[in-house]
Amino acid sequence: MMKLQSATIALITLSVASVLAPSVTYPAATNNRSAGEVAQPFVLMPDLIVDSRSLGQNLKIRTEKFTASQCDVVEDGISSGSHAVMRFTVSTPNVGDAALQIGDPNYHYYTLNDGLFEFAPCHGHFHYRHYATYELIDPVSGYSWRAAKRGFCMIDVAQYQPSNVRNSSKPVYTVCGSPGVTGNQGISAGFADVYDWQLQGQYFVLDGGDGQPPVPPGNYFLRITVNPPFVAQAGENCPYTDTLGLCHQLPESDYSNNVSQIVVSVPRTK
Ligand SMILES: [Zn+2]
Repeated sequence: MMKLQSATIALITLSVASVLAPSVTYPAATNNRSAGEVAQPFVLMPDLIVDSRSLGQNLKIRTEKFTASQCDVVEDGISSGSHAVMRFTVSTPNVGDAALQIGDPNYHYYTLNDGLFEFAPCHGHFHYRHYATYELIDPVSGYSWRAAKRGFCMIDVAQYQPSNVRNSSKPVYTVCGSPGVTGNQGISAGFADVYDWQLQGQYFVLDGGDGQPPVPPGNYFLRITVNPPFVAQAGENCPYTDTLGLCHQLPESDYSNNVSQIVVSVPRTK
């Protein structure tokens, strides 16, 4: 049995977004409005952010038991038995002017074959790819541990804030879908998709039980990037491109605000 000291959590939100992510430029609005009129965006677009406040809430370090039949063990390379893990909640609000529309995973997977989703046999459902990256980063060496999270389903989980869009008080996108079961994924403007700390994969393994090096005691950055930039591999689609030429799966008005990170303190876990 591992002994876990209580974790101290420094809720320091660092403004790193502008350093880490490029911005994208859309066509400029025509400058024909009369004096005093508020500028309107030329194109209504979604805009995803990571809620840094909810990232610091529900951060938990504890020992969990993994059984041989769990998908974490079957698919994610975690050995069965007890492991020290750090769990956390991720909330990704859409603060833009338009809904982010994904639709039915069956249509993307079987009809369009556009690479947005992959099928996860152990889970029995589709996993959205490239939705968010979870990293635990050593601030000295820069070494980055990956989280257990593999797949996402984007739906309206919680209202985040009023937006410019009317009729945004009720959730619109509520069904993940699975093979043969029609889904409707997306995030309405003013809503957030939330991945609660209790969900599968919402953790880092701290004791090396997933094949990564054990995380030594100390302070680390917990960094979340939503709709992260990626370099398309051969045969992989590049749906949207930012100013640096990097690919994103989803359209956004602003790719510079997609990163949040906090400082977390990892205790001795064995
Ligand atoms: Zn899954």
